[in-house]
Amino acid sequence: MKEQNTKVEEPFYSKGLKFACQEGCAACCKIPGWVGIKDEDAEKMAEILGIKLNRFLAKYTHRKDGKLRLNERHDHACAMLSKDNTYCLVHEARPSQCRTYPFWDEILVNEFIWILEKRACPGIDQGRIYSADEIRKINRDEQQAEGYQNSEDA
Ligand code: SF4
Ligand code: SF4
Repeated sequence: MKEQNTKVEEPFYSKGLKFACQEGCAACCKIPGWVGIKDEDAEKMAEILGIKLNRFLAKYTHRKDGKLRLNERHDHACAMLSKDNTYCLVHEARPSQCRTYPFWDEILVNEFIWILEKRACPGIDQGRIYSADEIRKINRDEQQAEGYQNSEDA
């Protein structure tokens, strides 16, 4: 009888990955695409902006396939990006897909893809090391969120 190969391959990030979001960057908020939010995110965002929920929903969001999404500006940046493109107006209430970037499935595929993502995110390979467990936890949160989609996929 053949022995079964029970060895589980370790992910490339088993020793952790360095990441630190760079102040004033906001590059990922300018990428054309969409940001999915939950109803409770919308409530918190409206509160932070100091406007009524109905007004927030009408001005900054739309629904597609029954899912709530933030609008894009004319330049395709997220509607919650400040006018000078340097910070998120609702940082404290930013949704899961923003909180969990860049620890997304499609970026954690392998080391090559991770390094390639540096072209989009200058925070990759900077700052402190996130352990494999931390990365897994953040990634699980991302899986429960809507997930980023390029415009072409939407
Ligand atoms: S691209 Fe990276 S460094 Fe820049 S704001 Fe987004 S997460 Fe932070
Ligand atoms: S919600 Fe904030 S952090 Fe997320 S894409 Fe929009 S501006 Fe960026």
